[in-house]
Amino acid sequence: MMNETQSSAGNPPRVLIGEDQIRQRIAELAAELNRDYAGKQLLLVGVLKGAIIFMMDLARAIQVPLSLDFMAVSSYGDSTQSSGVVRIIKDLEENVEGKHVLVVEDIIDTGLTLTYVLQSISARNPASLKVCAFLRKQKALQLSVPVDYVAFDIPDVFVIGYGLDYAERNRNIPYVAVWEGETASSD
Ligand code: 5GP
Repeated sequence: MMNETQSSAGNPPRVLIGEDQIRQRIAELAAELNRDYAGKQLLLVGVLKGAIIFMMDLARAIQVPLSLDFMAVSSYGDSTQSSGVVRIIKDLEENVEGKHVLVVEDIIDTGLTLTYVLQSISARNPASLKVCAFLRKQKALQLSVPVDYVAFDIPDVFVIGYGLDYAERNRNIPYVAVWEGETASSD
C-alpha cells in the first residue's frame, strides 16, 4: 500500500522548507518572543488545525510563562482556493481581557482568516494582541494585515506538511512541501 506522503511514482513531496531550517527559525523566533514578552505572561491562541504543530514547537521553545487556547475557523473546506467565507467553529475557552495575546497562525494567504480572528479577539479587550505566522505568502505582503512575527515568507504556491493539509491529510509531514496535485497523496 502506498505511503500517504508519497506520490504514485514513490517520491516524497518536494521540500520547500526542511526540518532543520524550521527548527532553527523557531529557536530564533522564540528568542525574539522571550525578549519582547520578558516579565509578562503570554496567552498563545492557536488557530486550528493548521497551526498546531508550529504552535507546539514554538511553545516548547518559549521561556516566558504562557497558557494555550485555541480557535477554529473555517475558510477553505477541502479545496486549494479560498472560499471567501470565514466562520467560527470553536471559540476560545479563556477570557482574554487584560491578557497579552499572541495569535499563532499556520499560513497567511488572503489574510481573511487572520482579519476575522483579530477582530473577534480585539473586541474582548486584551492587554495586547499580536500575530505570529508560520508562513506568509507573497500575496499577503500587499495586504494591510498586521503580522508581527513571521517564520518564513513563501511564494504563492499551495503547501502541505508541518500542520498544513490537503483535504485533512499530509499534516504529519515533518517539513513544508509544495502540493503537486492528487497523485501526491493518492490512496
Ligand atoms: P487566508 O484566510 O489567509 O486566505 O487563508 C488562511 C487559511 O487558509 C490558513 O489558515 C490555511 O488553513 C489555509 N491555507 C492558505 N494557504 C494554504 C496553503 O498553501 N496550504 C494549506 N494547506 N492551507 C492553506
